[in-house]
Formats: sequence, structure tokens, C-alpha cells
Amino acid sequence: MAPILPPAVIGILGGGQLGRMLGLAARAMGYRVAVLDPDIDCPAASVADRLVIGSYDDVGAALRLADVSGVITYELEHVAADVVETVGALVPVRPGHGPLVVTQDRLAERRFVEGSGVAVAPWREVRSVSEATAAAAHLGLPLRLKLPIGGYDGRGQLRIATAVELADAWERLGRPAGSALLAERELAFEAELSVVVARGLDGAVAVFPVARNAHDAGILIESVAPAPVAADVAERAVAIGTTLAAAMDLCGTLTAELFLLPDGSLVVNELAPRVHNSGHWTIEGAATSQFEQHIRAICGLGLGSPAALIPTAMVNLLGSGPARDARLGGVASALAEPTVHLHLYDKRRVFERRKMGHLTATGPDVDAALAAARRALEALHWADGETAEGDR
Ligand code: ADP
Ligand code: MG
Repeated sequence: MAPILPPAVIGILGGGQLGRMLGLAARAMGYRVAVLDPDIDCPAASVADRLVIGSYDDVGAALRLADVSGVITYELEHVAADVVETVGALVPVRPGHGPLVVTQDRLAERRFVEGSGVAVAPWREVRSVSEATAAAAHLGLPLRLKLPIGGYDGRGQLRIATAVELADAWERLGRPAGSALLAERELAFEAELSVVVARGLDGAVAVFPVARNAHDAGILIESVAPAPVAADVAERAVAIGTTLAAAMDLCGTLTAELFLLPDGSLVVNELAPRVHNSGHWTIEGAATSQFEQHIRAICGLGLGSPAALIPTAMVNLLGSGPARDARLGGVASALAEPTVHLHLYDKRRVFERRKMGHLTATGPDVDAALAAARRALEALHWADGETAEGDR
């Protein structure tokens, strides 16, 4: 199939920070960008040539996006599968419907991963307190109870330490009794790793070096790459990502979140058929960024080199305090260190734990890079109230 060449329009379902950074990469290559998002001030709005306002399950809005796009991709797996199916009949959607349906439902994802011969944490589907109690007895405590659909950044899941906490679990997750949940053993992992795999239209694969990630209450806060792990661990992570990308016949990028267990084995925690927060380090740290790589893949172009150029760390800049207009202070001091880079997502409002941006730093090794990124983060703060505050 002929590649999709600039100045073709790339349509992106979702205008958050991932859509923004995909748009920036597409624009650098001379593509034009159209974005569908419910919010006129979404992060991708300012990098889009065209913004279609609509929710992620609005078929009419998606058809308007398809009207102006040469290829469509998605920046989140919570877009409605029937939207992708409908527009996919008119314009190529990459990755398509298949990768979306196996990754947007955690139960389907567990079945798919196991069916591909890759390990996950021991799990069960549970629909009632008695089933969850039986699962707790079988899997052991603590347990994680997760909504199959819609959870992100640690939302939509509960940590269950004792069986009595199961009694009101459905209520606390905001789900009617009888609806399906994923019950999963909590694993005492040694580290969280992730691997971003790109797969071209021709099946060629390029895998970025593995990242080591740290989460705080379910939200990613730090990544370093290449991960300081044994070579065989990194090789197995790469093999897992490659296997799963091929098994879903993916075109684009796939991220596999992994747990490294104390015995050296790896299990898959979560998949995302897209670029990922734990791959942001590639903008400065790899020969090709994950965003450019995704655009190359979905346009039917050859993949770029995923090689790491330098040890790199990424720290997320989260919101704090009450909801208010977003005014970031301390930028000049954060950037006093020449190895540090700031990425701000242009979100108009800041609130507690909202992903507002990220910092990367490079260094002689990942520990030095991480220390520099953390120092820069320390220098930043969100101004109080609605009034402007100067950069201190
Ligand atoms: P989300 O979609 O919110 O990222 P995850 O399933 O990836 O959902 O969970 C978020 C984080 O919670 C993980 O990165 C990990 O730190 C922790 N976590 C989730 N499941 C488990 C588990 N079974 N054992 C240990 N920690 C877990
Ligand atoms: Mg996750």
C-alpha cells in the first residue's frame, strides 16, 4: 500500500497531551493535523489545523474528522469501539478496531495476553461479593479490584487488604451489584518496567529501550531509560512487547506495562495501543521519539531507529491544590540546568494530581539524570488563586 505522505491530514481521536505531542511530531514532518475532542481548549487544540468538537463516542463527530483525514489514530483507548469501526470503513484507522477492543477492557486484555502465551498476575472475573470472597481465598490478599473499562492513573481500582472490605467494593467503585470486575493478586514487584514497541504496516518492528517506572498511588511519576536491569530482563521485555504487537496485528505503537518480580520473571500489567507517558523520555533520549515513530508507522513509512542516545529521566509535573487557572512558577530556575527540558501541555486549569506537563533530563547515567530532573521539578510550583504570579 502506498504510504500516506505530507501534507496529508492525520486525524487524532482525543486531544489530550498525547494527541498534542503526536500533533507536534506530525507537524514537524509536514503533515496537517485534525483533532476530535469534547474540549475546545484541549491540549492538542493549539497544534491542530482543525478541531472537531465531540465526545469520544460521537459517531457524527468522528465522521466529520474522517471527512478531512487521510488516516486516523487514537491517543486513548477509551474511544468507543463502534466509532472506530464506523470511521474505519471510510479511512484507515491505525491501530484499528482489534487492538482497541483487546486493550480497552481489562478482562479481554488478560485473556488476550494469556492467550498469547505471556504471563499476567493471577486473576479472576468476579460479579458479586461472594465471588470476590472466593477469589480472595483463591488468589490471596491483598487484592486489586479493577473496573474492566475506563480506569486510568490509578482511578477505578481498589486495594483490598482484608475480605471485609469487599462488602461495599461495588459501591465504592460506582458500579451496580452484579457487574463484572477484575480481581487480581497484588504482586510484590521488584520494579515496574515498560516497553514501547512500534510495528509498521509491513510488520517490521522497532522496540525502544525498556524504561523503569515509579508510580505514586497509581499515577506515573518517574521513568528512566534505558532501565538499569539485567540484559536478559530487557531482552525478555522486548520479546513480550514484540509478541503482543504481532498477536494483535498492530500498526502503530504498543506499550506494555510490566512488573519485574523478585524471581526475575516478568508479567504484563497493562497494555496501551498507543504512545505512553513512560515513553516521553524518547523525545530527548532516543534517536526517534515515540510520537514520530507512531506517525511513521500509521502512515506506512519505515520506522526510525529506537536507539537510546543518552541516559534519560522523565518526571511528571502534576497539579496540586484546589482547582484554579494554571500558572506555573519557577520555570526559569528549573531550566537553569542545561540538560533539563520542559514540556507543558497548555492545560487551562490545574487541580490536584492532574498531569500538567513533564520534565526530562539527560546525564551520564540514569541516576544522575533522575536527580537533575527531580531538582528541576522541585523548582516548579503552581501559583495560588486566579491571579498571575511572576516567575520566581
Ligand atoms: P491504570 O490504568 O490506572 O494505570 P494499572 O492497572 O496500571 O491501572 O494500575 C496502576 C498502578 O497500580 C500500577 O502501575 C501499579 O503500580 C499498581 N498496581 C496495579 N495492579 C497491581 C497489582 N496486581 N499488584 C501490584 N501493584 C499493582
Ligand atoms: Mg497502568
